[in-house]
Amino acid sequence: MRGSEQDFDVVVVGGGVIGLCSAYYLQQQGRSVAVVDKADLGSGSSSGNAGLVVPSHFVPMAAPGVIRQGLGWMLNPDSPFYIKPRADLDLIQWLWKFAKASNQKNVERCVPILLDLHLKSLALYEELHEAEAVSSFGFEQNGLLMLYRTEAGEEECQELTEMSHAIDLPAEMLTPEQVSARIPNLELTIRGGTWLPKDAHLNPAALILSLRERLTNLGTTFFTHQEVKEFKTEGGHIREIETHYTSLSAKEFVLASGAWSPGITKQLGLNVPIQAAKGYSLMAPDLKGKLNLPLILTDSKVAVTPLAEGVRFAGTLEMAGIDTSINPRRVRAIQNAAPQFIPSFRLAEEKLTKPEVWAGLRPLTPDGLPIIGRVPRFENLALAAGHGMMGVSLAPITGKLVSEIILGAAPSAATADLAVNRF
Ligand SMILES: Cc1cc2nc3c(=O)[nH]c(=O)nc-3n(C[C@H](O)[C@H](O)[C@H](O)COP(=O)(O)OP(=O)(O)OC[C@H]3O[C@@H](n4cnc5c(N)ncnc54)[C@H](O)[C@@H]3O)c2cc1C
Repeated sequence: MRGSEQDFDVVVVGGGVIGLCSAYYLQQQGRSVAVVDKADLGSGSSSGNAGLVVPSHFVPMAAPGVIRQGLGWMLNPDSPFYIKPRADLDLIQWLWKFAKASNQKNVERCVPILLDLHLKSLALYEELHEAEAVSSFGFEQNGLLMLYRTEAGEEECQELTEMSHAIDLPAEMLTPEQVSARIPNLELTIRGGTWLPKDAHLNPAALILSLRERLTNLGTTFFTHQEVKEFKTEGGHIREIETHYTSLSAKEFVLASGAWSPGITKQLGLNVPIQAAKGYSLMAPDLKGKLNLPLILTDSKVAVTPLAEGVRFAGTLEMAGIDTSINPRRVRAIQNAAPQFIPSFRLAEEKLTKPEVWAGLRPLTPDGLPIIGRVPRFENLALAAGHGMMGVSLAPITGKLVSEIILGAAPSAATADLAVNRF
């Protein structure tokens, strides 16, 4: 049976880290907010990810050389990258836009924008972390180590270090002995590493719980397990949204539905170039307390995060549409990467299926910047999606920008390059 219509200042569609941070900054400004999700909060890409907060990730994925490297990886089923061949016009258009953006000009355009967003987000995380009377989300700003075993990995780290210096971000190339001094008591089989002291990490599932607790205290209403089926419009105005159970009307709407966003905007006649890029993670509870810093295993593109409940390993990027099924061969590649760098990090031979393995869909844009802004043709709809591999990192600044856009306040960061009509 359908519930009665309910009225809010703002309805946010999507209860991932982007939707919850948007709701948080809106609710803080005294707006009545509802968050609607088709499943549980954080059930998309926002709970099982690596939890890295990374100003050091200022280089967009669309960069010179990436197409050549991607084509090489496509031929190797154990590689960290895969595109499932399919006749999908949206995918073909996305790949075309991605190929066009993979150049030095795009890197030069995106680096200052991403750096600014990451640094502002990091400062907001510090504020959120210091706020009292809410549960902790394991935020620690104690840096990130990138480890490499090959010459190609060393070149990648060297290039990142030089680019970091050029934008005044601290980064340092380390010998294996210097790496060992930072992560003691672990035997390493590496060629070297890069030390990125500005980076931080957190527990992403705990972040979702903490945001839910803050939002509940501020008076947010949650509608979970309710899929938004339809937007009711009047001219260039969204009047209400409908789920199977209820209708919600509001003055303003925010679409923060991650990789699902293009499927939703299509019914509004809007083509948003976001593709889902699947990644996996698995926990090793027996390694609890064995690692003091987060790592990136550069040659294998695997992130390793120390969390309260153990060590999390995350990686791979599979463009296979909206599909969270597990490909055991690629999960095994994540498992196998760890002992190549740290021999004692041999992961237990778990069943390579859910729930031992988590799969999430990164929402990828073709130029590597998120989409944050008003949607053309609909005066009261804002879109906040397409954060790719940086959604956790960029969530607080995104939420703040969304609230400023909706409230008509001066934005905390430049938003012109984040507009949906840039493509
Ligand atoms: C393996 C892996 C590791 C990662 N590691 C990191 C990392 O270390 N650092 C980092 O910054 N980022 C990382 N990411 C990326 C990060 O997880 C994403 O960028 C981020 O979670 C995206 O958040 P979101 O809120 O936009 O989307 P999501 O978390 O996917 O949320 C979207 C929500 O919308 C809901 N929804 C969809 N359609 C509807 C509908 N019709 N009606 C109602 N609700 C709907 C979904 O149920 C979902 O809950 C990683 C991702 C993966 C896969």
